[in-house]
Amino acid sequence: MITFNNDDNGYLNWIRNNHNGYVINYAHSPLAEILSLHRAGCSTISIKKKQTTWTANGHIKTCANDREELVKWTKERFGHGPIPCGICKP
Ligand SMILES: [Zn+2]
Repeated sequence: MITFNNDDNGYLNWIRNNHNGYVINYAHSPLAEILSLHRAGCSTISIKKKQTTWTANGHIKTCANDREELVKWTKERFGHGPIPCGICKP
């Protein structure tokens, strides 16, 4: 399991090299704390639209090849599991 914070290059390399992996997208703002679970190949976490960065400005990505490991870690750390992405359906 690896976390990318302010490291877009490291993150993009990881998802490129781990197509079958999973990614927790942690988005933090004053209004909400969002934890979503994606497949590494999901377009919403790999193709840039409006955002200029993947791993800064309140966004952190935690990646692993083991889905259960990620979900367990999320529950332990945040007290609840992630929301599965509706697009890639992890
Ligand atoms: Zn997704």
